[in-house]
Amino acid sequence: MELIQNYISGKYVDPRSNSKLELHEPATGVVYGQLIDSNSEDVQEAVSSAKNAFPSWSALSLVDRSNYLMAIAEEINNQADNFSKFESRDTGKPLSLARSLDIPRAISNFKFFAEHAKDFKFEWDLISDVSINHVSRSPLGVVCCISPWNLPLYLFTWKIAPALVTGNTVVAKPSEVTPYTAYLLGDVCSKVGLPPGVLNIVHGKGSTTGELLVNNKEIKAISFTGGTSTGKLIFKNASDSFKKLSLEMGGKNPAVIFDDCDYDLMLETVVRSSFSNQGQICLCSSRILVQSSIYEKFKSDFCSKVSGLVIGDPMDPMTQFGAISSEQHFLKIKKYIEIAIEEGASVLTGGNVEKLNGRCSKGWYLQPTIIEGLNHSSRLNQEEIFGPVVTLQPFSTELDAVEMANSTDYGLSATIWTKDLDKGQRVSSSIDAGIIWINCWLLRDLRTPFGGMKNSGLGREGGDDALKFFTEQKNICLPK
Ligand code: NAD
Repeated sequence: MELIQNYISGKYVDPRSNSKLELHEPATGVVYGQLIDSNSEDVQEAVSSAKNAFPSWSALSLVDRSNYLMAIAEEINNQADNFSKFESRDTGKPLSLARSLDIPRAISNFKFFAEHAKDFKFEWDLISDVSINHVSRSPLGVVCCISPWNLPLYLFTWKIAPALVTGNTVVAKPSEVTPYTAYLLGDVCSKVGLPPGVLNIVHGKGSTTGELLVNNKEIKAISFTGGTSTGKLIFKNASDSFKKLSLEMGGKNPAVIFDDCDYDLMLETVVRSSFSNQGQICLCSSRILVQSSIYEKFKSDFCSKVSGLVIGDPMDPMTQFGAISSEQHFLKIKKYIEIAIEEGASVLTGGNVEKLNGRCSKGWYLQPTIIEGLNHSSRLNQEEIFGPVVTLQPFSTELDAVEMANSTDYGLSATIWTKDLDKGQRVSSSIDAGIIWINCWLLRDLRTPFGGMKNSGLGREGGDDALKFFTEQKNICLPK
């Protein structure tokens, strides 16, 4: 059985830890490999390797570092089919989605930061009547990137690329649920000749390897994406060593649908925004707020479209809706459907386990589920499920919609559907979320700040924000 090893100092290394985890293919429920649960010696080996590589990596010119990023992007592109296949195997997402979204975006992450960093202001002067100040930004040293299982390589590289291009060396930990494409990235780095120790990839559980990284005194910053409760714990644990933190966390995103929207575009997009990747995208709409005048029509059309989604083997090109990424998560989502029923909800469509035949007969499949009849303080409307379960709620006025949209502790994203752009802007400015899409969803310009408000995030990723996060400012002052 394949063992997923750590990638340290430019090679795959035998683990010091004896502890191993099983890796499952969600589509089939079958164990396909084993993962090291890295211990303190494994982690220290990776941190020391990154520390040794820092002086020469940070001394390279920006253009040289950018060229390495471009070469990594090219090599992932050369192996895109392989990467897509393994991303789909690890996550249960349709292969078509891994091909069209995950892997292209991982490639773009490297290309984007390689180019964007060239326009970033790393130093400047401020001159007054009395002083000459030279301000500069330099890399932090060894930094750590921790990522979740839903968009594995996409989110892993979204952190690694800006960390590397700014001259840091990195110890990165992918999710223990979906480590395979991060594992393959090690081979890509070796192929393009990335100097040993610049990127180290360690595997393991959050409660072991993750905590060891967060507690490590030689690591200067943690860029984390994952659940809000994990983010809180990292915040506490990192406070001992005053690490810089970027925390991208959970969401409970509203889609606000007004009766004057472009109905067909809205309907098609809300199906996607609710159920892409089996609803396991942090930006997915999970609370669908619909103006009362079109509520019944929307309900009927939405249910009809969603119940027509093709659930199947992720490797089948016809599949639109794959497996849930782990058994634990599958059970959690099922539990939420039970809670909805206990809370008095009606399940309009879905709500059941989907049984497939053949190789997928033991996979973790749930039907896309639409629920109504709960008010906005219910658990289903307050807690992040992070799966294919959405609620419908009617609203009357713009004010009601804003109040409902803002009624959770989360503030990651929102979508607003109206042809009246003044209203769209008004509502956007009143909704507490880091990104608001009007008449679209998941349109991303990588230069823009990305992140959440309230319990959804601390700090912003993307564009200049990521480059600022991974650098430290210094001011050198001379009298004039
Ligand atoms: P998670 O918090 O369980 O795990 C995320 C990562 O953190 C994993 O690599 C895990 O091993 C590690 N980890 C866990 N405990 C840790 C600890 N104590 N110390 C250090 N590391 C630890 O999240 P998940 O279940 O993998 O992912 C789902 C969550 O991620 C959802 O809440 C989703 O909304 C969120 N998410 C947010 C964004 C965003 O951009 N805001 C994007 C994707 C996913």
